Amino acid sequence: MDFTVLTIFPDMFHEFWDYGMVGRAIGRKLISASAMDIREFASDKHRTTDDRPYGGGCGMVMKPEPLARAIQEAKQTSPLSTTLLLTPQGRPFNQEMARSFAGQDGFILVCGRYEGVDERICHDLVDHEVSIGDYILTGGELAAMIVIEAVTRLVPGVLGGEDSAELDSFSGELLEHAHFTRPPVFEGQQVPDVLLSGNHREIEKWRFESSVVRTFLKRPDLLENRALSRREVELLKEWCSRIESIVQAQSARGTDSPSGGQ
Ligand code: SAH
Repeated sequence: MDFTVLTIFPDMFHEFWDYGMVGRAIGRKLISASAMDIREFASDKHRTTDDRPYGGGCGMVMKPEPLARAIQEAKQTSPLSTTLLLTPQGRPFNQEMARSFAGQDGFILVCGRYEGVDERICHDLVDHEVSIGDYILTGGELAAMIVIEAVTRLVPGVLGGEDSAELDSFSGELLEHAHFTRPPVFEGQQVPDVLLSGNHREIEKWRFESSVVRTFLKRPDLLENRALSRREVELLKEWCSRIESIVQAQSARGTDSPSGGQ
């Protein structure tokens, strides 16, 4: 898998290529990665990459010629790569997209700046427009890093045990279970006994329950949009009935305690 980033700030990537999982994946030749300076493809002596927008208005627009030349050069070097334009107007990036990207040969990631890139770049030179979320950054560089990191960790061999990626939140359709490490008691809060028991069946049961309940509490939309398994339905019913009995017990007591009635 090869990543080529086109940017006017290639230095932003030096540290990114050197550290952590991405650094190790490059070191082990599981991926290759480079950042090309779009300014190198500008034709004037000031290496201009932006200009005023036609029609007036504030801000600058990235000129098409240097960008087009940079993309063409990157395509020549990596002919099997898919070209992505990072833009808030693109398809929202998610784990499913990351998974579908992980099997491909490579990516040329085009980072905009200012008001974005000249529209004509998007027509013939870009395969997909990708957004990392409904908010506006000042440049595509951080968005490119996010895409590269999420995809790289799914490239076979990059993570130690293959299953550590399979269990992650969004890999199935549930959020991942809660995690604990030593010490067993931290500021009065105890690690659930079952996790210290060594009983793998019980631990698996607890983790499944933790996954389902966390998804229900934190991201109910993930459950609403899919068919639940019988085991998940049973579990949620059990939780509902526990909550119901707490509420009934409270109602029977009355709600006149100082914290009641909120
Ligand atoms: N005026 C544009 C936003 C430009 S932001 C608009 O309203 O659509 C400048 C650059 O930052 C963009 O060209 C893009 O490369 C990058 N960028 C900003 N927000 C982003 C996001 N949510 N996802 C991906 N790239 C983004």
